[in-house]
Amino acid sequence: MTLPIYVYGSPVLRKVAADITKDYEGLSTLIANMWETMYKSDGVGLAAPQVGKSIRLFVIDASPMDEEEPALKDFKKVFINARILNREGEEWAFSEGCLSIPNIREDVYRPEKIHIQYYDEKWEFHDEYYEGIAARVIQHEYDHLDGLLFVDHISPIRRKLLTGKLNAIIKGKVDVSYKIKLPK
Ligand SMILES: [Zn+2]
Repeated sequence: MTLPIYVYGSPVLRKVAADITKDYEGLSTLIANMWETMYKSDGVGLAAPQVGKSIRLFVIDASPMDEEEPALKDFKKVFINARILNREGEEWAFSEGCLSIPNIREDVYRPEKIHIQYYDEKWEFHDEYYEGIAARVIQHEYDHLDGLLFVDHISPIRRKLLTGKLNAIIKGKVDVSYKIKLPK
């Protein structure tokens, strides 16, 4: 089942999400629905707050980006209760978009490498290091768990230039091909 995506202005996107336990009700259904929602909307990642759940869960399938980075060919993962322990390396710019901020892309600077710990959908623990586009996508999705959006990382001037477009999203004056949930 596809879920509506909460867009810019929705309070749930600004909350710090909570860890979950193994007995979180409906977890496997939620994950399946998040995959379906992500694929239908042509995203490479989706975080639970984007479907209205303030929990520390996100999914990523970066395989469509394997032309840019062949290592991403099989990159399809579920991240539960993730914690980034360290970020390092030079910050580099990449044009980011977000399903919760339709039709806007901006260059965002983020550190090159991360060290992350998380559980997968089978509740197996992982302690891993990522770099390049994988580290980029993870950091974007991870931000959603802390109530951050990519527009928080751009310069105040760039953000000011986007005000009109962001206000249009809040009011639903946006052309999207997937279901969205507007802020009340
Ligand atoms: Zn996003």
